[in-house]
Amino acid sequence: MTGSCYRVTAGGREFLVDCGMFQGHDDLGHENSQPLGFDPREISAVLLTHAHLDHCGRLPLLVKGGFRGPIIATPATRDLASIVLLDAAHILSEHALHQSRHGRGADAPLYTATDVFDTLRLFQIPAEYGERIPLAPGVEAFFHNAGHILGSASVQIVERQGGVRTRTLFSGDLGSSGRSFLSPPAPPVDSDVVVMETTYGDRNHRSYQDSVAELRETVSATFRRGGSVLIPTFALERTQELLYLFRAWDREGFFPSDARVYLDSPMAIRSTDVFERYSRDFTPEIRDMLDRREDPFHFERLVMSRSADDSRRINTAKGPALILAGSGMLSGGRMMYHLEREIENPNASLIFVGYQGEGTLGRTLVDGARQVRILGTQRQVRINMAMINGFSAHADQKDLLDWCRSMAVPGLAILVHGESRSMEGFRKVLPEIGWNRSTMPDMGESITLPALPP
Ligand SMILES: [Zn+2]
Ligand SMILES: [Zn+2]
Repeated sequence: MTGSCYRVTAGGREFLVDCGMFQGHDDLGHENSQPLGFDPREISAVLLTHAHLDHCGRLPLLVKGGFRGPIIATPATRDLASIVLLDAAHILSEHALHQSRHGRGADAPLYTATDVFDTLRLFQIPAEYGERIPLAPGVEAFFHNAGHILGSASVQIVERQGGVRTRTLFSGDLGSSGRSFLSPPAPPVDSDVVVMETTYGDRNHRSYQDSVAELRETVSATFRRGGSVLIPTFALERTQELLYLFRAWDREGFFPSDARVYLDSPMAIRSTDVFERYSRDFTPEIRDMLDRREDPFHFERLVMSRSADDSRRINTAKGPALILAGSGMLSGGRMMYHLEREIENPNASLIFVGYQGEGTLGRTLVDGARQVRILGTQRQVRINMAMINGFSAHADQKDLLDWCRSMAVPGLAILVHGESRSMEGFRKVLPEIGWNRSTMPDMGESITLPALPP
């Protein structure tokens, strides 16, 4: 999956919207160490839509290259980005170590924790939803809640020059409807140009209720067979949403008495702390719990493993186990060890609840591979697999169209952040809602925006 990164020229200055990392291929370093394609010193500010790695992951490289800020983001995005980037620096240094141990050069990690701290210092301008942020003479920005993850925003840049006003809206990643977790996104603001994500532009998710039912059935069937359940997740949002769900199941007596739910992700444990700081961004039910200092993500049979030793103890634990660990696309992380142990066990289940990018092990498995390489060894795929997409933090085609419908038809739609199949699928349905002008730029392509009357 390509990282999101858009360079905008306005008011004679250069801005970036996001500076994300490629995700997916095993070769973490290679694509991300490619030159950015511009001089970081020429960028006067970065507007960051949210804290997922494919949006913020290359900020430390930008800073290493001479960018001196500011980075503009919501306060929640800043807090989550600090967790995500420090974790990335950790993974990158382990990756570099692994490479040099296997004689594949002694490449220095792409960036280190020191680079991340230098980056965090540049988060100098907090953006509140709906507030005007001056960027340059005649140029201003607005952040609006995108409902995707905590702190996520769509960003509008407005430029006024010689009596001409151009409003460009970057959707960022958009949240999916029908989930009961974050407060709903703000309706999009009218704009002349809309740059929008199309991750699920060609398909619709199953409903949240159907997905919950399917998950419940898969977990209980696995436990009846005496197997473990593995759910690869990214630390932000979906993990907490699942914990909230399992907490409710626990109260209903769903789990066998000796069953344990393991959260094997130190990053997810830290993210939960950040959530408590921003209770007002959640639905009233969760907000009330957080305000009462009740932890909506905790219950008695939940075991959190912070250290690698805690993680190893899961292997020897007795009783049915449900394990949540990263990475969400099986491109590394602690889940690899659990999967290596269980992949040839037909009684166990591997449940995907999120998007699996091209080139990842997750995608290979979803596409039906019968044999895969895990941690250097060839394995038969015998584990029971399920793909349940109603938990996605991403809008599906219907949600994207609803989002489009709630604003005036823009002069131009620029479709981005999706595999070509989903971008093309989305482009085909746009004329149905009167959006007749759209384009799908190639990586590195520049687009000169049409001048529109004020
Ligand atoms: Zn995202
Ligand atoms: Zn994204």
